[in-house]
Amino acid sequence: MDFQLNRDQLDLQNRAEAVGASFRGEAREWDESDNAPYNDIFERIRAADLLGIAMPTEYGGQGGGAIEYLVVVEALFRNAQSWLPSEPVFCTSGPGPSMLLLGDAAVKEKYLHDIVAGRRACNIALTEPDAGSALTHLTTTAVRDGHYFVLNGTKSYVTGSNVNDLNATFVRFDDIPGAKGIGAVVVDTAMDGVTVQRGPTFIGDRGIAHGNLILEDVRVPAENLIVGPGQFARLMTAFNLERLHNCGFWLGFSQAAYDEASTYVQQREAFGRPVVEFQAVYHTLADMWVQIEALRLLAYRAAADATDGRFPRLAEVTQAKLFGATIGPQISLKALELHGGYGVTTDFPIQRIHRDCVTNVVAGGAPAVMRNGVAAGLFPHRKFPQT
Ligand SMILES: Cc1cc2nc3c(=O)[nH]c(=O)nc-3n(C[C@H](O)[C@H](O)[C@H](O)COP(=O)(O)OP(=O)(O)OC[C@H]3O[C@@H](n4cnc5c(N)ncnc54)[C@H](O)[C@@H]3O)c2cc1C
Repeated sequence: MDFQLNRDQLDLQNRAEAVGASFRGEAREWDESDNAPYNDIFERIRAADLLGIAMPTEYGGQGGGAIEYLVVVEALFRNAQSWLPSEPVFCTSGPGPSMLLLGDAAVKEKYLHDIVAGRRACNIALTEPDAGSALTHLTTTAVRDGHYFVLNGTKSYVTGSNVNDLNATFVRFDDIPGAKGIGAVVVDTAMDGVTVQRGPTFIGDRGIAHGNLILEDVRVPAENLIVGPGQFARLMTAFNLERLHNCGFWLGFSQAAYDEASTYVQQREAFGRPVVEFQAVYHTLADMWVQIEALRLLAYRAAADATDGRFPRLAEVTQAKLFGATIGPQISLKALELHGGYGVTTDFPIQRIHRDCVTNVVAGGAPAVMRNGVAAGLFPHRKFPQT
């Protein structure tokens, strides 16, 4: 068992930290205006050579795996104190591109070279207005018509919907009920019948849209199939990279909250002493740090044990994500409290960090759903009906 990053991983971490820190002064403006120069962000991440890091070299990727992915997104989140600079990594190497790796040669050849090189980028579109946790109840349909699938339905909360043109989209084939009917296809927002709708407005993670994709008789070429019906569990193995991304968020943002609190309490004085010298304060920081280190062990174990080094295993990544979503908002709230009244002013970034944390609690799957998954693993011979 080795708890150290190797030389290449440390180099990756250094580059991600440096470019991440270069964004920090801009995060406030993106948050306030709910607008960000996405192309500029993308190009700076490209210049730091952080696109396609966990994609195979045959598609132009850097040949890294889940560990390299986690190293990079954690460092970006912590140093940028914004979720935005990790998006180019997500869209060229995260769950969407990983899902495409499950497809036939046709879909991979058609899209992966461009995605990995950052010429195009791929969102994930699973959620619907009436089916989030209840993913197996999604109602967007795909019906075969000659060389096409005809899609109808609405996808919601699609992060990056207004800036990236490709979407790994979950659909129900031929009205087959339940998980058995679900597969995925690549939808290009330029296809006839696709409408991208920005919104709703979020309290955190601001700057680019988490929007809707409305699909009306969209004719998707058959070669855009990622996986067909009957392979839901396989499809979800690639989705596990989304949960690892969430773990990177919690690690990065918990540390960003810790960093801000640690700096503030060493500068702020009360009763003639820096407030860090009060036991209640330094114990709070110590507790935060131990929680962060525990999350680090869970998250990096999930990355280190990933199947083929690439697809995190469900049980481990679910435990890590659940722990992150539990401690992350607690840490950011404590960090805000340590700022006293200044914590809730826009003069300090901690309120934005806390809003971003709250915004991410259910992203990638609500904590209760994670608990369902952990419990199902603890009691494999029992069924806990969800309907
Ligand atoms: C910041 C952010 C980014 C996102 N990005 C994307 C994206 O890029 N692509 C995408 O497809 N989706 C995205 N989503 C959507 C996200 O995956 C869903 O919001 C999430 O899965 C929860 O679904 P829901 O919002 O429909 O909540 P619901 O499923 O309606 O849940 C409401 C409540 O009911 C509880 N609940 C539901 N079912 C159960 C159950 N079986 N057991 C116990 N409790 C249950 C939940 O825990 C929750 O507390 C994003 C969401 C956010 C907040």
